[in-house]
Parts: sequence; structure tokens; C-alpha cells
Amino acid sequence: MVIKKGISVSPGVAIAKALVLDAQDQPIPRRTVAAGAVAGEHQRLDEALTASIADIEKLRDQTSAAMGPETAKIFGFHLGMLHDKHLLEQFRQMLDGEQVTAEFAVYATLRKLAKTFRQQESRMLRERVSDIYDIERRLVGHLIGEARAELGHLRGEVILLAHDLTPSQTAALDKSKVRAIATDAGGRTSHTAIVAHALGIPAIVGLEDLSNEVNSGDLVIVDANNGLVIVDPDAGQLLEYRQYVQRLAQAEVGLDELAKLPAVTVDGTEVSIVGNIEFPTEIAPALAKGAMGIGLYRTEFLFLASESEPTEEQQYAEYVKALESLEGRPLTIRTLDLGADKLAAIDNDNTGQAESNPFLGCRSIRLCLQNLPLFKTQLRAILRASKHGPMRIMFPLISNIMELRQAKMVLSDVMEDLEEEGIGFSRDIPVGIMIEVPSAALQAKTFAREVQFFSIGTNDLIQYIVAVDRGNERIANLYSGSHPAVMTMIRDVIRVAQRSKIDVSLCGEMAGDPDYVMLLLGLGLRSFSVAPPAIPEVKRIVRAVSVNQCQRVARKALSFDTDREVLNYLHDQVQKAVPELFAGRPLEL
Ligand code: PEP
Ligand code: MG
Repeated sequence: MVIKKGISVSPGVAIAKALVLDAQDQPIPRRTVAAGAVAGEHQRLDEALTASIADIEKLRDQTSAAMGPETAKIFGFHLGMLHDKHLLEQFRQMLDGEQVTAEFAVYATLRKLAKTFRQQESRMLRERVSDIYDIERRLVGHLIGEARAELGHLRGEVILLAHDLTPSQTAALDKSKVRAIATDAGGRTSHTAIVAHALGIPAIVGLEDLSNEVNSGDLVIVDANNGLVIVDPDAGQLLEYRQYVQRLAQAEVGLDELAKLPAVTVDGTEVSIVGNIEFPTEIAPALAKGAMGIGLYRTEFLFLASESEPTEEQQYAEYVKALESLEGRPLTIRTLDLGADKLAAIDNDNTGQAESNPFLGCRSIRLCLQNLPLFKTQLRAILRASKHGPMRIMFPLISNIMELRQAKMVLSDVMEDLEEEGIGFSRDIPVGIMIEVPSAALQAKTFAREVQFFSIGTNDLIQYIVAVDRGNERIANLYSGSHPAVMTMIRDVIRVAQRSKIDVSLCGEMAGDPDYVMLLLGLGLRSFSVAPPAIPEVKRIVRAVSVNQCQRVARKALSFDTDREVLNYLHDQVQKAVPELFAGRPLEL
């Protein structure tokens, strides 16, 4: 049994067999198999060799037909290697002697061979190194590629383990089969984490080298309520967790009933709880959880999920679908927030790939303002859709008032074009900004004169205040919403918005974290935009507390020097206010 602690990013508990996913160009982890499974590894190896030989013969014949037999000779080296008795013997010796998986035997043997070739005097031999890598990729692809390719339609229920997942991989997961996600890399608000949370899949990140220690097929418990992964649990632990999963399922029914009740504090203050989504298909489940609208629609996910840039018509159709699903409830649509860790497959040099500091680079509104056709196409689609229901436009990552003015100017230009073309849209569509860069937070008073609403994006705001990359697990302990500097900045932005009489909400992951709800209410926040699975818990806390009580909690929280003290205090307060939320956990840390 192995127990590992990581960073819990989406709550819940799951018990299932592991599916370990290896990233394309990552080293293949050294995994051993039981003595009885060695024969199976030999068979897998044979099948991969046969399939690779067939691939290369096909390529050779195609090349021969297109470019002549001389050119097709380039495949002679590959075929020679795949038939080489000495090489095959080395693979087999590793399988028998070290009892490793076939993919590791292939990887380790060929990497050693590539090293020997690289050290040769002869240029011709040195040039063979890339052929060796090609053979390795092909064999490994046949050995484990299937697991990779089939993520979208898995056969059985699994817990997915990987070094890391991209946001688009996570978004494409077969949600009905993936019971939980556990990754070595990632931080609390990396986009993989956010998508997992939005999909309601329990997830833990920052588990260091867990994916090296688990084999596909091992039984795993992911306890994302406590940030724990248990590999090969003993019988007692398994029983305890099975009972815990049952208790959680019963409590879930209770939480879902809350959906129909209003979000009002015990002293009668109304609070708006809306959802964060990436795709319009998430709206129906969000409404079922009690969302009163959508406070953040991350439109860039349409781009992340597409092979090419979505057209105006495709975007328009998605936005109309979102409004229709909302049946008159409000939608805040955020313009493209591409770049940094959200890289789309679209052919665009400006997506941040080549930047050394992508989070400080040409992302988000900056990327849009440098790619006006891209930006204008989206604004046209948004404006055309605006006739279909109440909608607000939100610009992300504004750091400078000139950027906002420029973005608004482009919006006016697009409005004029539509008018000239006789295309209808809502002229007085409210325009707001994300407050997620400290410069915008500090200049909030100025911004408040030029927009109709703010939405505080703590996921980015925290990383820029404390200089901690939101996706880096090595420094994740320094990334905290309870840092006194973060709390002070949130308090000040809310105050400015209230004094300026503009709407303010908070749409970072912090809004859906039970530990922060009382603090945020106490700081004056009345609009929470959260991942849909978090809605019932947030509502439950809102309904159990009074504004006065929360103001006292906020005052006290602001008096501590360290984020640890703040978090311990906040956790204690919410536990006292809503003890049922935390009841019955097998491992309280
Ligand atoms: C944020 O930064 O808080 C936010 C909500 O946006 P995203 O997570 O998409 O960057
Ligand atoms: Mg952000």
C-alpha cells in the first residue's frame, strides 16, 4: 500500500483501477510486473514488433511507388533493426531478468543504443540516432498508444494517472468513465484542475512522481476531500472508503435538494450564485445544481477543442446555444483568454509557445488586440448572439486603462459594421473586466468609471500578487488566497465597486472553496461565480451564516500575519458554522 499527499483541486472520492497515461515524449517510467505477467509482456512485445514492421513495410512500398525504389531504401535500416536478433534478445533479456513492462524494455534498450550511436566517429552512424528514436516511438506507440488514443471513449471505469494533462485533454475525457484524476504536476488553479472541477471529477495534482509508482490496473483510492491517493489499499481501508463513498452519495442527494432554495443568509441578505463554464453543455447541469445564471463563460475552450480556428458562424451557434439553455437567465461571456497554459491548436505564432514567461506574455486581451481579425470575429459572433438573451461582455487580463479603451473601441467598430450591414444586436450590452492583474486592482477606481462591472479573477490575481506560477506544484504552498496581501486587495476592489455603484463578483476558484465563503461575504461580496459542482456547498454556507458574523470573521482574518493562520482560522469557522459539510471523513488531516 502506498499513500501519497497532493493538492486537492476538485473534491470527491473514487475507487477504481488505475489507467496510467504517459505523455508522448516523456521518459517511459520503469515499472515492473508480477512474475506471472512476464509471458504477457513478451506477447505484447511481439505484437508491437509485428505491427511496426507492417507499418514500415507499407511506408516503404508507398515511397517506392511515389519516389522510386532507391528512395525507399531509407527504410532498410528500420526493418533491419526490427528483425535484428541481437536487439530482440536484449529486449527479451530485460523482460525476463528485470520483469519490467515491454514499453520500458524497448525504451531503455533503444535509448542506450541511441547513446552509443551518438558517440560514434562516423557521421553516418551518428545520423542513425533519429531513426532509432523513430523506431522507439513507433514501438512504444503500439504498446501504449492505445490507452492514449482512447481517452475519449474508455471501456471501463478508471482513475486516470498521468505526469500531467493538457486542458484540452482534460476537456475531451470520457466523463462517464473517468472516476478521478491524479497528476504528478500542476497547481491549485492550473486549467487542467479547473476543467476537472467543472466536470465534477475528483482530482488531485502535485503528486510528484506518483505516476511512476503505479501500474495500469492497480486498485487506487483518490480521496480528493483530503488530497490523498492510496494505491493498493488493504482490506480495512477499502471497506472504510466504500462506506465513506456511500455516505457522500447520500449527502449529495441532500445538497441537490438545496438547488430549489434561495441563496439568502440567516439575516435575509440575498446572494447571487452563478456558474463558471467552458462549454454550453455544462449549463443544464449547472442549472440543476441551482445556478442563477452563468458568471463566466470561458469561450477559449471552443478554440482549445478545435483543430482549426472556429468560424464566426460556429462561435455564434455556440453562444446562441448557451443563451437558449439559460432560458432568460443572465450570461457573462468572456472574450478569448488564450495563451499561457491555454494553447490552441490553431496556427498562431502568438499563442505564447515560444515565450520564456508565457503567463507574463502575449496572452488573453493582449493577444486579441494584436490579432484584430480574430478578436473582431469573436465580437461579431457575441454581438449577433446578444439578441437571444441577457448577456454581458467581459474582457480578461486588463492591466492598463489604454487596453480597455482600445478593446472598447474595437467593440464600437464591430457594432458600427453590424449596423451598416443591418444586422441586429443589443446596443447597450454591459461591458466589464476581469480584475486579475494587481495594476488593475490598484487602479480599480479609474476602471470603475469606464465599465459596468468587475469580476475578480483570483486564479490569476493570486499568482501575480505573490509571484507564484499557478500551475507549478513545487511552489504551490506559496500560492494562497489567504495571503494577507491577497485578502486586502480583494477587500479594496469590492469597496471601490460598491462606492462606484458597479456590480462586482468573484469568479476565481476561491469563490467555490468552502473555506473562503464566510470571508468573502464578510468583505462585502454578494455575487459568487463558481464551478457548478461547488454551488450546493456555497449555498449551504450562505444559508447558515449571517452577514454580521461574516464581517467579524473577515475582520479577524485580516488581523493575522500569515496565510496559514488565516486558513486555519477560516477552516475552523466554517466547520463550526456548517459542521455537516465536513462530517464522516475517514481521514481528517
Ligand atoms: C481567474 O483568473 O481567476 C479566472 C477566473 O480565469 P482563468 O482561470 O480562466 O484564468
Ligand atoms: Mg484568469
